[in-house]
Amino acid sequence: MERRKSGFIAIFHLLQARARGNPRRTVLLCFAALFLITFVLACRQYWLVEARELDHRRYNLHLQAIMMETALATDRKQMQFLRSAAERTLLASRDLPSQPLPDLTTNAVVGIDMLPGDAPVRILGDARLQAIAGLTRSPGQLAEDLRLARQMSRMLAVLYQSGNQLDHLVYVASSGVLVAYPPLDDRLVEPLLRQFAASSLYRTPQTPSGEFDVRFSTAPGHFIDKGPRLLLGTPLLVNGLPRGAVILDAPQQRVQDYLSRTTPKGEHHVLLDDSGALIASSERNFDARQDLTALFGEAANADTDLRGAGMVDYGRGPVLYRELEGTRALLLAHIPSADLRWAVISQFSTLFVCLWVSLGALLVITLLIVDRLLLGQIAVNERLRDLGLVDPLTRLANRRRLQTDFDGLARRLKRQQPMALLMLDIDRFKLINDNWGHSTGDEVLKHLATLCSALVRPQDLMARYGGEEFCVLMPGVAIEQASVMAETLRAAVAQSVCLPNPQTMLSTAPSPEVRLTISIGVAEWLLDDCHSLEELVARADRRLYAAKQNGRNRVVQDDTLYKKTTSYSEVSSE
Ligand code: GH3
Ligand code: MG
Ligand code: MG
Repeated sequence: MERRKSGFIAIFHLLQARARGNPRRTVLLCFAALFLITFVLACRQYWLVEARELDHRRYNLHLQAIMMETALATDRKQMQFLRSAAERTLLASRDLPSQPLPDLTTNAVVGIDMLPGDAPVRILGDARLQAIAGLTRSPGQLAEDLRLARQMSRMLAVLYQSGNQLDHLVYVASSGVLVAYPPLDDRLVEPLLRQFAASSLYRTPQTPSGEFDVRFSTAPGHFIDKGPRLLLGTPLLVNGLPRGAVILDAPQQRVQDYLSRTTPKGEHHVLLDDSGALIASSERNFDARQDLTALFGEAANADTDLRGAGMVDYGRGPVLYRELEGTRALLLAHIPSADLRWAVISQFSTLFVCLWVSLGALLVITLLIVDRLLLGQIAVNERLRDLGLVDPLTRLANRRRLQTDFDGLARRLKRQQPMALLMLDIDRFKLINDNWGHSTGDEVLKHLATLCSALVRPQDLMARYGGEEFCVLMPGVAIEQASVMAETLRAAVAQSVCLPNPQTMLSTAPSPEVRLTISIGVAEWLLDDCHSLEELVARADRRLYAAKQNGRNRVVQDDTLYKKTTSYSEVSSE
């Protein structure tokens, strides 16, 4: 606990130190963090509501699927019954003596007479059957199928009359036998067999887990002339080989109506068969070729492995799916992204949204106020700092700034590079004050400052050291180069003319212009073994003194001319 507390205190101190270094950036960062946290919280809230909304819609789809499964339950039971009865009959008929077969070589479709009220049995002629890929027959197989067809003829009629809502019950055999109740036109026998041969009921009849399998498929309306058909089929297998199928048929319109009625507004629901073909859609004008991929993406592909229930998103908005139990049919629901977004947003109460927006607005306003206050404070601080580091008369650096810069340079150069200092003093400045007045004296000081700072390098620092004494700090410069610069300054000042304001000069001034000279002492910290600014200034000052001793308006860079005995006041009054 104690350690955690001291950790927090350390972080707080670190932040405080950072804030002191750059308060504006720290405030901006804190507000940015606040915005980020608010944004993340808003996103999280949105995400939670979206998840709840999707759960709700998933539940709706589940209910829709359950209703369809319930409606199908009776049909599935009937098919289960028909299938097991048929498969048993086929197996049992193997041991029975064969019966005479009808002549199938002449006619396209051959009929077998049944009792009145039973479903008619129809057999496709040899020539026609050979033209259908996949369908073949042997005499033994045909005999078995015909035996089953006779049995089915009775069973289909009885089941149909027992009152389900189906339109047709059909038995199809791979040997070209077809039994339908109510009876179908003979012209439909060949196309129906052709469709059966091409359907998944015949091509891939094995079920993955071996359980009873019912499959949806559709048939075009022209077969029975009553609009598109919905077929529910189950394959008949003997020793794992496909021998035919039992098919229930209902108008596709019935499923279509149910989907339209029960699909929530804004969503699109479709029912697909196991080959990815559309069985029904909640939209009446649904174009299966275009709309399926446009709305459902890969979820509508035949080879999709969506099983059970769940959700996928292929970038066109979430798609919920639910497999209809035991049928391989897939119920899909597409929720348009905009619709979902709006549904989520409309769940936030107006008060909540107002609070959130107000919070954001308050944050922005507070940030603007704090930023403005800080900017003002920073400007004041900079002015105060300038006042402390700048000479108000000449606008040059003052002595304090000279010291600060020297310390920084000394740390950076680490006595591995030279650093020179020039000490400048106006010759007989007192006389200028006496003859032209102190105001003109001030203007002369400014004139000198402007002239010299224009001549030194940008990296050199020119500072006003005292009354009419100036320093130039030259990092990386040895004594020879510094002496050259000192000589340049001395010559430039000697050649310059200062034209002060006539209004402020004494009436007794000897001329409207002032000419002046300067003396300069030069020192270098490595050569002169100086370790502080004080030592360096003292060394340069001693050479300035020598320059004064030796007639002024000159540069001195060593101690050979320095005479210890003469006092400065003596030199000054000469
Ligand atoms: P020397 O050649 O020996 O340097 O002679 P000097 O007359 O310049 O001698 P000294 O250094 O003693 O004189 C400096 C004078 O500078 C004294 C002071 O009145 C004057 N002074 C100092 N500061 C200012 C200022 O800010 N403005 C004006 N006008 N005069 C100043
Ligand atoms: Mg002086
Ligand atoms: Mg002087």
